[in-house]
Amino acid sequence: MPRSEKSLIAQIRSRSSVGRGVVAGIGDDCAILRILPGREALVTTDFTLEGVHFRREWHAPEVVGRRCLVRGLSDIAAMGGDPLAAFLSLALPRKLRQRWVDRFMAGLLRLADEWNVTLAGGDTAESPAGILADIVVVGSTPKGKAVRRSGAKPGDRIYVTGELGGSSATLDLLFSGRKLRATDYPRHFRPIPRIEVGRWLRSHDIASAMIDTSDGLCTDLAHICEESIVSAEISADAIPRASIGRPAREVNLKFALHGGEDYELLFTAAKDRRVPNKIAGVRITEIGQIRRGRGLCLIGKNGRATLKPQGWQHFHH
Ligand code: ADP
Ligand code: MG
Repeated sequence: MPRSEKSLIAQIRSRSSVGRGVVAGIGDDCAILRILPGREALVTTDFTLEGVHFRREWHAPEVVGRRCLVRGLSDIAAMGGDPLAAFLSLALPRKLRQRWVDRFMAGLLRLADEWNVTLAGGDTAESPAGILADIVVVGSTPKGKAVRRSGAKPGDRIYVTGELGGSSATLDLLFSGRKLRATDYPRHFRPIPRIEVGRWLRSHDIASAMIDTSDGLCTDLAHICEESIVSAEISADAIPRASIGRPAREVNLKFALHGGEDYELLFTAAKDRRVPNKIAGVRITEIGQIRRGRGLCLIGKNGRATLKPQGWQHFHH
């Protein structure tokens, strides 16, 4: 362990501030959260594992900390929720330097502050191999208003926020041995959870179904289709592809279709719903429509083709 468990917790505690809705945070057996009348709690948990989600030689500790919390915040965004508190379970190898943990916590807590989220607890243990972090994020929505994956109807239009493929195309460059400047590849090294967009869509009752693109457009759209018992067709030309690097270049379509960890929002809306082309400063693009039946189909230059969700495999290339 880089430092005794007790002093590590004391240090984390000194840096985490107690915010609205958190009656008691770090220091007791449980945190106490206040859920306002008329609201429901949202709870999500996500692993960040060394060698699966990051590599120490490619990702600065601040980046790992930020991306760890983004995974949870993005899930809250995908329900149209307001994040409230986070819980962090860490397993750290004995040999790990304290400096790494400090920088990891700095990256995580900076993002928590940006969204007014309190780190309200966690667990700390020694890991036999590699760094393991599990983030739990608790949020809320008004009762019955969380946007589910299951609400898409035939005829609904399909939309996506921002641009796709930037994160996985960056990972591809890292795999090819390229040294990258993190600032030229923000979607990978500095992802932004689309909380404001999700909240806006929910409060205006616009999205019939929603998911975040953590596993890739195809796989995540397939999740909406499975839960909603519908099919989808998307148009290759319409998919907003990320531009990465300097000079910036647009990523290949395969990254936009199948690459994960962009943490954009993918949602559907009834066709008579007016959806703005910008929400909270984020570009919104219509990419296709929901149909009856099952499966996914891509309309491209050579006509229609069946799309198979390949599933985002992280570091298994
Ligand atoms: P317990 O034995 O009840 O699990 P711990 O000694 O593990 O208590 O934790 C003491 C307090 O510190 C608890 O409030 C717990 O939520 C918090 N805590 C432990 N590890 C972390 C961590 N990695 N991040 C944030 N809070 C933590
Ligand atoms: Mg404990």
